[in-house]
Amino acid sequence: MAENPYAWIKPSLSAIDQANWRRSVQEIQGMSGATISLDHRTVINFASNDYLGLAGDRRLIDAAIAALQTYGSGSTGSRLLSGHRPLHRQLELAIAALKQTEDSIVFSSGYLANLGAVSALTGRRDLILSDQYNHSSLKNGAILSGAAVLDYAHCDVADLRRQLEQHRDRHRRCLILTDSVFSMDGDLCPLAEILDLADQFECMVLVDEAHGTGVLGATGAGCVEQLGCTGRPLIQMGTLSKALGSLGGYVAGSAELVDFLRNRAATWIYTTGLSPADTAAALAAIAIIRDEPDRRAQLHQRVAYLNYQLATHFSQSASADAGFTPLPSQSPIVCLQVKDAAMVLALGQHLKQAGIFAAAVRPPTTPTSRLRITVMATHTDAQIDQLIKALREYKG
Ligand SMILES: *Cc1c(COP(=O)(O)O)cnc(C)c1O
Repeated sequence: MAENPYAWIKPSLSAIDQANWRRSVQEIQGMSGATISLDHRTVINFASNDYLGLAGDRRLIDAAIAALQTYGSGSTGSRLLSGHRPLHRQLELAIAALKQTEDSIVFSSGYLANLGAVSALTGRRDLILSDQYNHSSLKNGAILSGAAVLDYAHCDVADLRRQLEQHRDRHRRCLILTDSVFSMDGDLCPLAEILDLADQFECMVLVDEAHGTGVLGATGAGCVEQLGCTGRPLIQMGTLSKALGSLGGYVAGSAELVDFLRNRAATWIYTTGLSPADTAAALAAIAIIRDEPDRRAQLHQRVAYLNYQLATHFSQSASADAGFTPLPSQSPIVCLQVKDAAMVLALGQHLKQAGIFAAAVRPPTTPTSRLRITVMATHTDAQIDQLIKALREYKG
C-alpha cells in the first residue's frame, strides 16, 4: 500500500510546537468593547483593532439590522451580476468623500482588496518595491501579480532610492507598496518622501491605510491626510474591519483607477458582493467618523497617556530587568519588544491572569517576539493604569 500522503502534517506541527510558534483561537463571549468576556472572565481588551469602539455601537448594529430586513442576509451574487445594492454605491461614495478621491471600490475584505489591486495593476514586465514589514496581503498580492518583487529595508527611503536607481529602467511599470501604519509595529511610513521618489522614477504608489483610516488625520481620512499628502497621485486601500467596526475592504483613487479595477480585479469580479449588513454598518461608521471628531481626539489622549506611562516605567534603562522595551509608535498600536517567543507567551499568560488581554505576537508574523497593545477611544485611564501595574508585576 502507498504511504499516507498526509503523514507529513503531524511532524510539521511538532516542529511548529518546538519553536513555540503553534497558534490557536481564543473564544470571546458576548459583545466586543473595551472590556470583554474571555474564557468566561471579564478582561480589559487591549487586543482589538476596533480603535473607536464602533463594533459594539448601537448605531452600527441598528443599521445592519435595517439592511438585513430590507435586503436579506446575503448579496447573492458578484457585484457585476446580481450582488450590487444601492448601499454598496452609497458606501463607495462615502469612502471617496472621506478620502477626498474621485471614487472608490468596495471589496469583501481588505485582504482581497490588496490581492486584487496589486495583481491587476502589475504583471510580468513590471517591478514591485515593497517595504519588508508590509502586511501579508500586500506580499501575496505582489507574488500573485507575477511582477519582479524586491523588498526594501523598513521605512528606508535611501534603500528604496538605491533599488530604483538599480532596477527601475529594466521594467515597464513600477509599483511601490507600503503600509501607512505598520500593523505589528505601529510606526508610520515616510509617505511624502516615497511619493517624491515615485514622481522622480515614474512609479505608482499603493498605501495600505488599514490602521490609519478613522484614526489619523484631522478628519480621520488616515495617514495620507496626517502626512499632508491628500490629493497627491496615489492609490489608497484600507479595510472596513478595524476602526470602522465592520467587514470589507476598499481601494480609493481616481475614477479611471476604480473603473479599471472593476474590469480587472479578479478578487472583486469573481466573488460575492459584501453582505448588506456589513455594508450598512460600515456606512454608519463613516458617518460617525465624520460627525464625531471627539472620539478620535479621545483615542489620541489615551495613546499619549499609555506612552507616557510606558516611558516612565519601562524606558531603555529601567526596563533592562523587565526584559521588554517599548518600540517607537505614532499610532494606537503600541508594542513591547520581548526577548523570545517563550517569554512573550508567559507574559501574555501573566497579563491574562491579571485581567488584561493583549496579543502575544511571534515569528513568523513578526521578525521578533512582542506584546502588541492596541488602545481604544473607549478605554479609561484607570484601565491603562491596570495594564501598567500588571506589566510591572511581571517576573520573567
Ligand atoms: C488587517 C489588515 C489587512 C486586511 O484587512 P481585512 O479586511 O482584515 O482582510 C490589510 N492590510 C493591513 C495592514 C492590515 O492590518
